[in-house]
Formats: sequence, structure tokens, C-alpha cells
Amino acid sequence: TLHAGIVGLPNVGKSTLFNAITQAGAEAANYPFCTIDPNVGMVQVPDARLQVLSEMVHPDKIVPATVEFVDIAGLVKGASKGEGLGNKFLSHIREVDAIVHVVRCFEDSNVVHVEGSVDPKRDIDTIQLELILADMESVEKRLERSAKLLKSGDKKALAEVALLNRLKETLDAGLAARSLEFSDEERELLKSFPLLSMKPVLYAANVSEEEIADPDNNPYVRKVREIAAAENSEVVVVCAKIEAEIAELEEGEKKVFLEDLGLAESGLDRLIRAAFHLLGLMTYFTAGQIEVRAWEIRRGMKAPQAAGVIHTDFERGFIRAEVVSYKDFVENGGLNGAKEKGLVRLEGKEYVMNDGDIVHFRFNV
Ligand code: GDP
Repeated sequence: TLHAGIVGLPNVGKSTLFNAITQAGAEAANYPFCTIDPNVGMVQVPDARLQVLSEMVHPDKIVPATVEFVDIAGLVKGASKGEGLGNKFLSHIREVDAIVHVVRCFEDSNVVHVEGSVDPKRDIDTIQLELILADMESVEKRLERSAKLLKSGDKKALAEVALLNRLKETLDAGLAARSLEFSDEERELLKSFPLLSMKPVLYAANVSEEEIADPDNNPYVRKVREIAAAENSEVVVVCAKIEAEIAELEEGEKKVFLEDLGLAESGLDRLIRAAFHLLGLMTYFTAGQIEVRAWEIRRGMKAPQAAGVIHTDFERGFIRAEVVSYKDFVENGGLNGAKEKGLVRLEGKEYVMNDGDIVHFRFNV
């Protein structure tokens, strides 16, 4: 499974947000993730299409897709030099597939800021710098090794040395590894030395209760948006405190509460969807009498691998996939209607899945 790690400086609202996530979670899972056990929380990915499909199919059960978050507390300035529990936390970040960076955008004199004031730019730079410093160390070590190999006549090391030098330059300039473009060959090489500043990032701008209805009035939020835009990252505005309250409400109450705040949807729901996307995941559906279900797969996956997410036998014995788009399914009153119009396709092994495909797999046992 892929994980999104929640990081940020102390007192920005990470635990509050993480608690909201586990409260809302289908099953809050606490299991050993690595050396020390940061919390892992599993949540359902909100998807209105599931409701629509269920009203058409009337299944016994509805199963949404899920996404997992890891609470990585304790990242502080100097972590790469071993400050706090520095290296441990950096090693947790190493194990996640994407980063949700919580940035404090709320003023509250009762909540101490580690640097004494609210300043998103400084906070983002602080965290980013720790990741970059840790990466510099990895890159330098690796460079020493591959330079030696190259000297001893190993031509294969040539590409790696070139890549490492390019990375070193970028990191030295204070830029994240993800700001570079890579060839397929380089991406392959990068797999053997995963870098922290390579991981995709989304910013969760944590605003106060008063500002959640109109966050763009908040200059800190505007600053986060500006920084994110420059690096092609996404921003989700949340009020962690309110999210924690909402997570405790029943579905019906939740709606009323959100309407009172002037919101169409909770920030947490938006954050979950954004994280799902950041992890490179997408959804396809199976829609039968027993269950209507959303399956999470990596974008770009082919039909047999997508079938393998349901069961390995489905992948091994894959024959064909019967596929109809969500839109065609809904507009034609379901599978039979779509079939009559010739909108249900038979796809083979090379078919690349699309988000929202409704699929029935045919396979040999
Ligand atoms: P962490 O150190 O990043 O995990 O931060 P916490 O989640 O423990 O939050 C630190 C303090 O900030 C707590 O007292 C929270 O109640 C408070 N806090 C978190 N989010 C908000 C928010 O959106 N508004 C306000 N006013 N306080 C918040």
C-alpha cells in the first residue's frame, strides 16, 4: 500500500488533523510501520459516484477506496544534523510515497510557535531545507561510491555519476530534487537511492475557525498558494480544529454543520482526495448485486494488473475486461442499457485503465 506522510513543524496542527483522520477512518489501524511506530490511519476516499451507482444497482454493500496517512511528528530545524529525534523522523519520511506538509496559517496567542511567529514561507523553507540536507548527505555518499566504480573502469557508473552531480548541484542551490526533470533511464537509477526531496508534496494550510469560510482573505494562505504554484504543488485549506469536531459527527449532522459554516465539503474530504491523487492513484469500479466497490490502482495500470488488485487469480488467468465508462453507465441506466448502445467494450491485456471505468473481468481459473 502507498502512504502519505503528514509532516510539519511542531504546533502547526498535525496531530489535530491526524486525529480527525483516524476518527473519520473506516478502521483506524495502528500497526508497526517501521522502527518506532508512528501512527498510521486509514480513511475512505469520498466519492459521490459510489452513491449514484448504488442507487442504480442496489447492492448489499458499498465499499469505498481507502488511503493511508502516517503521522510523522517531531520534524524540527536541525533534524538532518540529528536534532530532536531527527534522523529517525527523516527515516520515516523515507518510507512514505508522498508528503502532506501542514503549514500553520492561524494566529493563536495560546499556541506557541516554535519560531515565535506565524510565517509560512520560513516554515516551508525550514522543512524543505532539512529534507535537502539529508539528501545531500545521501547523494554525496553515493557519488563517492560510483565515482570509485567509474575510476575502476565500470562504464555503467557513468550515467549515475552524471545524475548524481546534477542532483548535487540542485540540492546545493537549495532546490528540491523534484524540481528537476528526469529521463526514464534516470528515473530507473533513482529507484536505488530514493531521495526525500523527490517525494511529491501537497500543502495543507491550517487556518483558524473564523477564516475557513473565506481563506483567501488570509495573507498566510495566499503566501502558501504562491509558493505551491511556483513548484506545481497543490494547496488544500483546512481548519484542523474544525475537522476534528466534524469527524465526531454523524453523516447527517455533518452536513448541517458544514452548511452553517458556509462550506460545501469538509477540508478533510478535500485533503483525502488530494492525497489520493498525489499518491498517483485512481479508481475503477465493480458494480454487482453483492457490492458496489471502488478499487484503488496506480494511474497508468493495465487491465490485468488492475484485475490483480481484486485477486491474484484474476491477473494470472486474465482473459478480457468488459469495460464501460462511469458516464455511459449512468446515462444509459446501467450495464444493459449501455450494452444495447454498444458502449460496453471488450478490452484485452494492453488496455490502460481509465479513472471511473466500471469493469467486469473474465478470467480462467
Ligand atoms: P502538532 O504539534 O503539529 O501536532 O500540533 P497539534 O495538532 O498538537 O496542535 C497544536 C495546538 O494548536 C493545539 O493546542 C491545537 O488545539 C491547536 N490548533 C491546531 N489546529 C488549530 C486551528 O485550526 N485553530 C486553532 N485556533 N488552533 C489549532
